[in-house]
Amino acid sequence: MWNKPFEKLRRRMTCLYAAIFGALILVIVAAAYTFIWWEILAHEKENLVAQIYHEGEEWVESEEPPCSEAAMRSGKMLAYFVDADGTKVILNQLGQGEAGQEIMQHKADWPKEMNTSRLLRMQGANGVRYRYLAAVAPVIDGDKQLGRLYMFKNMEFYYYAAYKTLFLLLCIALVLYFAACYFGYWLAGRNIRPLSNMYAKQQQFTADASHEMRTPLAVMKLAVQGLQEDEDSRLSDFAKESVAMLQSESERLSRLTENLMTLARSDEDFLPVYTAQVDMTAMCKKVAAQMTLLAAEKRLQLEQAIQDNLIMLGDEMALSRLLIILLDNAMKYSPEQTQITLRAAKVKTHLVLEVRDEGCGISDEDKQKIFDRFFRVDKARSRSQGGLGLGLSLALAIVRQHGGSIKVLDNKPRGTIIYVKLPMAAK
Ligand code: ADP
Repeated sequence: MWNKPFEKLRRRMTCLYAAIFGALILVIVAAAYTFIWWEILAHEKENLVAQIYHEGEEWVESEEPPCSEAAMRSGKMLAYFVDADGTKVILNQLGQGEAGQEIMQHKADWPKEMNTSRLLRMQGANGVRYRYLAAVAPVIDGDKQLGRLYMFKNMEFYYYAAYKTLFLLLCIALVLYFAACYFGYWLAGRNIRPLSNMYAKQQQFTADASHEMRTPLAVMKLAVQGLQEDEDSRLSDFAKESVAMLQSESERLSRLTENLMTLARSDEDFLPVYTAQVDMTAMCKKVAAQMTLLAAEKRLQLEQAIQDNLIMLGDEMALSRLLIILLDNAMKYSPEQTQITLRAAKVKTHLVLEVRDEGCGISDEDKQKIFDRFFRVDKARSRSQGGLGLGLSLALAIVRQHGGSIKVLDNKPRGTIIYVKLPMAAK
């Protein structure tokens, strides 16, 4: 089975491969199409000028018209023969059709230089499109120029063939693209599998190790508590201090192991979800009341803006942990005599939890990283505050477990806003 973060990585890699390959295919198709089209056009231009010379020779020999009746009637090939100055029309073979009339109307666009050609794009009265290749060359009798012969070749068939080719190329490209996506997915899987296996083992180890550490830690905590509460013990002041230190460090260690275990499980989606109706109004008020005492110690003011009747489906323990993490952070990273606000409100089908502080704030660069495990902006500072860099990763895991989202915003003029949005119904 694939590990969740690696499945995401695999999908992201596939998307990247697919995007690169798709762009490459499109460039190749566009280049092939343009190249083929220009080659055909250049060839046809050359041919038409050569044909004019040929028809000119036949005219000089036997006055045979350049276009056959059939070609003229179908509009496949039309001609216009004028004298050397262009003042007198020697032979008009533009026919009676709309194409001939359109060509005549676009006389200004005809090629001007001898032995050159041009593509004429025209539109008839009822929207019919006409595309003709026009070329001009002199008709020479001995060393005398009899006139100029214009010939017009209908290019509709070439356009039709070009569009068909393009369609075919795009179909092939699409098939290749899907094959590449599948291949990319397979390739990404092959490359990631060893990493994923390694990661899974490491995760298993973290989960097992933290699980195994729970019992000895609980025993240690009990023993220390026993020592502290033993009225008959004759501990020196130094020993008492050491016991107090032991107690706070074992608390820290047990918090760390709990968090590590929860996070290791959240990666594998093993985080148990005890979904039930949770009265978020009551919970927010309860947590805020607990935190108010701590806030008062730090001379912080904890404001509450909690709507009534906020009932949602979720894991009560996890949600209360989430609130504690956010309020605890706000308190840790705020200077004295500032205000922290907890807002809880219903917005459409979601519950919005917002914790605002007037603390040190978080730079844009760090906003991306604070949800990473063990990341702390100011290592020395947050460690002195008791932070391990796991709180927000845990908050993120809880929010995801509930199908919600979490963002960090700047509070104005200073401080941070942590904005959480949770669906009120189960995910
Ligand atoms: P920690 O246990 O160190 O607080 P978190 O994962 O909760 O770990 O937070 C990660 C880092 O994000 C903290 O070390 C801190 O630098 C920063 N941080 C979190 N919340 C706030 C806040 N409200 N104001 C300023 N910085 C914060």
